[in-house]
Amino acid sequence: MNLLDGKLVSAKIKEDIKLEAAEFAAKSGRKPHLVAILVGNDGGSETYVASKMRNCELVGFESTNIRYDESVSEIELIAKIKEINEDATVDGLIVQLPLPKHIDPDKVTEAIDYKKDVDGFHPINLGRMQRNLPCFIPATPYGIMLMLEHYKIDTAGKKAVVIGRSNIVGSPMSILLARNSNPGNCTVTLTHSRTENLPAEVLEADIIVAAIGKKNFVTEDMVKEGAIVIDVGINRETSTETKSGFKLYGDVDFENVAAKASWITPVPGGVGLMTIVGLLKNTLEAAKGTIYS
Ligand code: NAD
Repeated sequence: MNLLDGKLVSAKIKEDIKLEAAEFAAKSGRKPHLVAILVGNDGGSETYVASKMRNCELVGFESTNIRYDESVSEIELIAKIKEINEDATVDGLIVQLPLPKHIDPDKVTEAIDYKKDVDGFHPINLGRMQRNLPCFIPATPYGIMLMLEHYKIDTAGKKAVVIGRSNIVGSPMSILLARNSNPGNCTVTLTHSRTENLPAEVLEADIIVAAIGKKNFVTEDMVKEGAIVIDVGINRETSTETKSGFKLYGDVDFENVAAKASWITPVPGGVGLMTIVGLLKNTLEAAKGTIYS
């Protein structure tokens, strides 16, 4: 078993981003700027946004975190988004999901200027991705592709099974793996909660991407010898063993699956760190205007 080491790869790519950000700042007189909007006090979301902000500082970006109380109205939130859309000092804008039930995430996503949509969730970016046109790719799938590229994993012609069809992970991941690109050119099966005999589908896979949100969902009996296993899941459980008071688990039973896999991502230390890299790369591209001028 070989580790797809998110710590190592993300550190290396962040060094490159830092150099490019410094070049951008020297030329333009300002740093790339990411704004993150956080609504409410969800512990997981707070941790993710804090990590995004910290990583912006690390690579020499400016970052702004705008916080709203859980009770903010959809109208007020969208008005703020429109204001930021017009602000020439902001390159990238993200709204941390999930949002409270009274706010429609689709309306919020579509309110963001697609040229600042560094999460890559806007339908224009998703449509352009599907057509293999320049666009912002959703950060998690983008990070996974960067990881596969770094380790020069040969994906062409391989059978990939993606578990989970969310708009932010599973669906875009299936599109990227099937695209005529490198990494890519896989034969992809997208599975979900209504898939019949899911273990049999997964057992056929050369590449497994698990994005379900259920601890230890993928067990060793579902994994072919030599498979490449990408674990996207982040399942947070309270723990007395850690200083933070919680522990993270993936969707894959790492201990037992690792023995069969040729490559596997750990949790933590895998896809989560690469997601940040995807976001930073998108923000840098937004600042440089290389995707949309
Ligand atoms: P989601 O809840 O939006 O989607 C889950 C998907 O899993 C759905 O498509 C559903 O059909 C499928 N599913 C649920 N139960 C199933 C079952 N029994 N059999 C087959 N499929 C089933 O989740 P998401 O936003 O895609 O996130 C998935 C997981 O990845 C979560 O744990 C989340 O925290 C994590 N995540 C991690 C990162 C990262 O950076 N590592 C980023 C985003 C999400």
